[in-house]
Parts: sequence; C-alpha cells; structure tokens
Amino acid sequence: MAVLAGMVLSLSVQAMVPAATAAPSARPTVPLPAPTTAGAATVGPATVSPATVSPVPPVTSPPPPTAVDCTKVKCVALTFDDGPVKNTSHVLDALSARGARATFFVLGIMARKRPGLLRRMIAEGNAVGDHSWNHPLMFGSKATKIRSQFVRTQQVITAATGERPMLVRPPFGQQDKKVRKTLAKLGSPVILWNVDPEDWKVRKADVVIRRVLKATKRNSIVLLHDVWPSTRAAVPAIIDKLQAKGFVLVTVPELLGGSPTPGKVYLHG
Ligand SMILES: [Zn+2]
Repeated sequence: MAVLAGMVLSLSVQAMVPAATAAPSARPTVPLPAPTTAGAATVGPATVSPATVSPVPPVTSPPPPTAVDCTKVKCVALTFDDGPVKNTSHVLDALSARGARATFFVLGIMARKRPGLLRRMIAEGNAVGDHSWNHPLMFGSKATKIRSQFVRTQQVITAATGERPMLVRPPFGQQDKKVRKTLAKLGSPVILWNVDPEDWKVRKADVVIRRVLKATKRNSIVLLHDVWPSTRAAVPAIIDKLQAKGFVLVTVPELLGGSPTPGKVYLHG
C-alpha cells in the first residue's frame, strides 16, 4: 500500500527541531477494572461491550516506561501501518519482551474490530496513530472526505483507548496542501518516514531485516506493515540488531519530543 509513497517524499518537508527535553509521559498507575489479559485474548468485536469502554485508558501492568530524550540517546522509531490484524499481537510480544516501543498507524476498518489490541498497544507504551478509515487515495479527494476519513478512525481509537490519536499518516504517504491544511485543523502532525524496506512488496523477512539495518540512522522513522507475516517474522531480529547497534526503539512522539506542529510533515526526528 506504500507504492506511491516515494513520489511524495519530496513535498514540502520541513526539518523539525526537537525540544530540549521530552516531558515524561507518565500514565495513571492505578489499574482500572478493565481487561487484565491483554492482546489476542481480548481481540474481537464480541469481547468489547460499551460498558467496558472507559473515558480513561485502561492500564495494565507494568506501566509504560518513561519517555526517552532523543536529543541525548540514539533513537529510532519503528512504525507499523495498515493493521491491526490478529497477529499484530506477535509484534507486541516481540516489542515488550525487548523493552522496545513502536507506533502503529491503524486503519479504522481494522481497528474497530480489535479494540483490545489498541488498548494493549497503549498500555505497553506504544503509540497509536491514524492511517485513515479505509486507505483511499488522498490526492483528488475533497477536504470533507479527507477529514471524515481521519475523524472516523480517531473516534474508533478514542473509544477503545480513551486517548485521541494526535499523529496521522495519510494513506500512501500522500500529502499536499489540502491534506496538510485539513490535518492542521484537526491538530495532527503528518508523519511520514525516511526508511522504507518495501516490506509490502518483497515479503521476505531476511530481506526486510537487511534493508532496515542498512538504511536506519539515528532518529530514523522506519515504515513497516504488520499485516504481512514476513514483516512480523522480521520484527524480533530487527529489534535485536538495532539494539545491538545501540539504538533505543521509541515511539514517534518520543522521537519528535515536545509538541509536533499540526499540519507539518515529519520524515524523521
Ligand atoms: Zn498504508
């Protein structure tokens, strides 16, 4: 689904200036009467009734780690698009077992079926972003359609987690003035990437691992897709090898630090 992404990377990209310090994003530590078994066990529309959706995000233990200051350590942000699927839980397992975090840019049509996975992402310190409702082309779309694509997904994420997603990644990375203006009004920065192993195309774990390791630099944002088995299979080794090279795997908000600017495009930290 990222086939057009390369075409738009040169558009109006501004370097971001990270804040001197990233404020720790402490979350409530008092467990709520929410799911105590995170992940796949809670997946599925039948497992979540309106009564379980709390305005406060359900928090499972352990609480997520304190935010990292990427002006001081060697950070990288892995991002996963187009899910979640049931086996996104395997990606979460790999991250949590290694003390790593990532950012999931979810589709509304997928997220509405798996609110338990969204809650688990947040509870384990990951970030959840908005990747539109059903992945339409942005170029040529009316502003009202663009807006509704993101608002609908925001509503699903907010209902599941109690947190309104700040970050947006447009489908195919397509962003122009109209898209940026629309997202600026929604308060959302536009998160693209500067490492793309084309995992959706190659579908081979060893190739994905090699390409990510070769291209990743300090403060990179890496584009991956958790919907592909080959990508999920690559994740443990990607994390291990990046950590062996001294990288700290953080969320996009941690990577950017401070308050990213709505409507502004970020390719990296
Ligand atoms: Zn996508």
